[in-house]
Amino acid sequence: MTPGVRSLVAGNWKMNGLGASLSEIAAMRRAVDAGEAGAAEVAVCPPATLLAGAAKILAGGALGLGAQDCCAADHGAFTGDISAPMLKDAGAVYVIVGHSERRAGHNESDAAVRAKAEAAQRAGLTAILCVGETRAEREGGRANEVVSGQLRGSLPARATPADLVIAYEPVWAIGTGLTPTPADVADMHGVIRALLSEIYGEAGARMRILYGGSVKPANARELLSLANVDGALVGGASLKAADFMAIAATYA
Ligand code: PEP
Repeated sequence: MTPGVRSLVAGNWKMNGLGASLSEIAAMRRAVDAGEAGAAEVAVCPPATLLAGAAKILAGGALGLGAQDCCAADHGAFTGDISAPMLKDAGAVYVIVGHSERRAGHNESDAAVRAKAEAAQRAGLTAILCVGETRAEREGGRANEVVSGQLRGSLPARATPADLVIAYEPVWAIGTGLTPTPADVADMHGVIRALLSEIYGEAGARMRILYGGSVKPANARELLSLANVDGALVGGASLKAADFMAIAATYA
């Protein structure tokens, strides 16, 4: 936690969910509106196909809506891509950029991630920019260097706490049930905080830094209480409202 900063718990559904899954989003909205996440902000990022349907369910409520990727261009000849203005038009408030599954599976470079984050900002979205080291990089003692390098390469030129959130997601912890030690998480978040402050000054001191990677109801309290951990990016455990809200309830 960072004093004076409103925490964020965001759910990344990845390529999961059909129309029937909107009932989970409706249940999440009811729980958030009932105050089950306390003062924390909560958002869900379903696949693009569900954004418009989710936006209808979430209208007028406190649960935020996000997308999982955007094109760096605002419009044009990019078959199959979805632009940030389109996501905004569909009702999104957030968009994840630079998730490790896109960096690795779609060869997204730091420069490409920066362009996407800047496209999100132009459209009035909040970018959730992901960074994280592989297992080999951590075991080689290079985690801090790798994550700092990703940040220097992919952070947008200008940012405020309202239009940029960082998510530290060790690649080896995503979907594996493994998590770094609390000391390692706190250490990395401290490194990220120092870098954000160096680059963005006072704004960097207030920017949210989420932890992501096998966050579950059972480990959320310990991870979310660490210094400079201002929330979580949750994958598998965000698919069911009960699990996701049990994590968000850490802030109740
Ligand atoms: C993620 O994909 O962003 C993630 C953190 O996944 P999981 O929680 O399933 O490890």
